[in-house]
Amino acid sequence: MTTRIALIAHDHKKDDIVKLAGEYVDTLRRCDIVATGTTGGRIGEAHGLTVERMLSGPHGGDLQIGAQLAEGRVDMVIFLRDPMTPQPHEPDINALVRACDVHNIPCATNISTARMILDVLTLRLTQQV
Ligand code: PGA
Repeated sequence: MTTRIALIAHDHKKDDIVKLAGEYVDTLRRCDIVATGTTGGRIGEAHGLTVERMLSGPHGGDLQIGAQLAEGRVDMVIFLRDPMTPQPHEPDINALVRACDVHNIPCATNISTARMILDVLTLRLTQQV
């Protein structure tokens, strides 16, 4: 079954997630990608990836992804949060991270962890060939 990965980044982290997606573009091409609105638009545009875009985070996109995750429709989450800037949708952010813990879904909130997840995913996909 195709791995479904959620990609989300706060504004100050969007360049980072676009760069990261570029590094792993071959892996991501073999996944189903769901993302919050702006993040998904940036990644799709930069790398020609097909991205299912939810609402923007502050408008409920994190919650939409959290709901999918609770239904078993998200396998892993890369959520580059900005720890230095208060966010208006902090409760939504916490809800999504909590949903990952409730449902035991890998959730990377910084680039180092994101790389580890994507490295393992790359390895798994390569071994399946
Ligand atoms: P965005 O949402 O990708 O639409 O900016 C992410 C967020 O800020 O939570």
